[in-house]
Amino acid sequence: MEDKFDCIIVGGGIAGLSTAMTLARGGAKFLLIERGEFCGSKNVSGGVLWGSDLARLVPNYWEEEEGGWERFVSHRRLTFMDEQSAFSLDFKSGHFAEPPYSGVTVLRARFDNWLAGKVEEAIAESAHPDESFLAQNILVEEVLMEDGRVVGIRAGEEKFFADSVILAEGINNLLTRQVGLQSDYVPADYVAVGVKEVIQFDRSVLEDRFQLSGLGGLSNEFVGFASGGVEGGGFLYTNRESVSIGLVLGMKDLREKKHTPYDLLNAFKAHPAVADTLRGGEVLEYSAHVVSTGDIRGMPRELYGDGVLLAGEAANLLLNAGKAIQGMDYAMRSGLLAAETVLAAKQKGDFSAATLKRYRDALEESFVLQDMRNFQGAVHLLHSPQMFGAVPNLVCDFGRQFFTVDSEPSKKSSQMFRESVKRHSSYWDLIKLGFKASRSL
Ligand SMILES: Cc1cc2nc3c(=O)[nH]c(=O)nc-3n(C[C@H](O)[C@H](O)[C@H](O)COP(=O)(O)OP(=O)(O)OC[C@H]3O[C@@H](n4cnc5c(N)ncnc54)[C@H](O)[C@@H]3O)c2cc1C
Repeated sequence: MEDKFDCIIVGGGIAGLSTAMTLARGGAKFLLIERGEFCGSKNVSGGVLWGSDLARLVPNYWEEEEGGWERFVSHRRLTFMDEQSAFSLDFKSGHFAEPPYSGVTVLRARFDNWLAGKVEEAIAESAHPDESFLAQNILVEEVLMEDGRVVGIRAGEEKFFADSVILAEGINNLLTRQVGLQSDYVPADYVAVGVKEVIQFDRSVLEDRFQLSGLGGLSNEFVGFASGGVEGGGFLYTNRESVSIGLVLGMKDLREKKHTPYDLLNAFKAHPAVADTLRGGEVLEYSAHVVSTGDIRGMPRELYGDGVLLAGEAANLLLNAGKAIQGMDYAMRSGLLAAETVLAAKQKGDFSAATLKRYRDALEESFVLQDMRNFQGAVHLLHSPQMFGAVPNLVCDFGRQFFTVDSEPSKKSSQMFRESVKRHSSYWDLIKLGFKASRSL
């Protein structure tokens, strides 16, 4: 292996692989190092990869019969839950069935590995097929610095040098802290724990049960009982022959309420509205991973330095404003932009912080930092106790009254609503919440 590269990428997740693909196409010499046995082996997502950047990286990816993705999202559902009931907003559209899709479900072990294969192909076709490498099963232990400037990395006894290093190491960003871009202490409010099971079905059972046609799929988010009163929510996504079901739970609230994620996940799976959909399925895999809450205060103090850039969740780039968890698309776009910055720096022959600042500017102009800034109000609203308690309880209470037909005189809907409000909240609290929601969503 050549020991001086244009760029070393730490981490072969979505951010790192997107960086690598862009560098290969741009004619740079790079080394990507992934600690897992293979790319994706250590990664967890719900997961829907939103947006259309995948088509930039792998044009016409949907034409590949055995591509890395599972299903395109053609059906979206948001479900409010109390202990017994579920009230859903349901949206299905033919528009969602047109490639490039606006969301595809993925299983990371398969998807990242497939994307890594595409990077290998891009390297083989690049200007430096023998001078760029994707190295797996190697842990980067240290970032090497000289006079305050990042110059390379150390993995075991081996040292590798480069003009630039992109840290795409994910949320557990030990190297980012080592180079001083983030302090060691990150408040527990800024992180959540995600737990997930993959449950396998016979394909025709899955398609009948979820009314899927072709490779169309369902993305269902849940609020309320799903998270057992803990800050957070649930998700269920359909893959080709399985569903991914799980919870994302605020770390601080989980600790304070002394619940275990596994018990909460079992209770969610046993809910009447969920249990029926999982009947007969076989649990293939259980995984857990820390994930950012999308609170912008959890971002490192800067996203670049002399010879270094941060991409993906290492930079805390993620948004969960109620509509979707967006971590993978943020990882992809930041990886793309980090690579473009390195290519421009290579052309200029200057990898100083002053040149790499361009990365920050590009992120500010993109949906990544624009949405993270614009929707912080929604992130905070989503984490307010009413959103996983009073509101879903009230919605379900109203639904139960509205849809009940018994042999008693019926009440008007307005009276039902008043009674639900009285049982679970107050008009004053709802007005305050509505005001916050109207400003933040
Ligand atoms: C339960 C759950 C559900 C989620 N659902 C969704 C969803 O539906 N949609 C969505 O967009 N996002 C979702 N996310 C968030 C999403 O998974 C992340 O935001 C995304 O994976 C971040 O990508 P990344 O490449 O930055 O980091 P990662 O995917 O974490 O990749 C980092 C890589 O770096 C490697 N690495 C780390 N340290 C080193 C080292 N020192 N040396 C070598 N390699 C190293 C790791 O092994 C890993 O492969 C979810 C997360 C969880 C936990």
